[in-house]
Amino acid sequence: MEEFKPPCEECRGRCCDYVAVELEKPTRKKDYDSIRWYLAHKNVNVFVDHSKTWFVEFRTPCDKMNVEKRCTIYKTRPSICRDHGDFEGSCEFYDTPYKEYFSTVREFEKYLENKKIDWKFKFFSK
Ligand code: SF4
Ligand code: SF4
Repeated sequence: MEEFKPPCEECRGRCCDYVAVELEKPTRKKDYDSIRWYLAHKNVNVFVDHSKTWFVEFRTPCDKMNVEKRCTIYKTRPSICRDHGDFEGSCEFYDTPYKEYFSTVREFEKYLENKKIDWKFKFFSK
């Protein structure tokens, strides 16, 4: 079978504009509070992907991308870049990875409230 090549020329580096780090699924007040803390920062978002994995996302372009949005260390790019888009539909050119996306503290609090999850510590009301 012919090896799949993602359409990077056309895409202009959509996957090179952020860093995402996997999180444990939040289940406790402490976890919800950490996510509120991430979201209190500029250019930091939290998302759940289509396989229900949670990530914190830092919106910051890779320094190795040039003005033409091309990788300047292509031959030695890290494996996380190398493995991205290794089959059709597995990269942002085709779809966003987001099932849920939070960019503000309040958006996340509303999400928890809609699910009837109590995220507040008692000391918040003092
Ligand atoms: S999102 Fe996909 S098509 Fe776009 S640069 Fe990254 S791997 Fe290439
Ligand atoms: S190293 Fe290259 S491929 Fe990887 S994120 Fe940076 S510009 Fe993109």
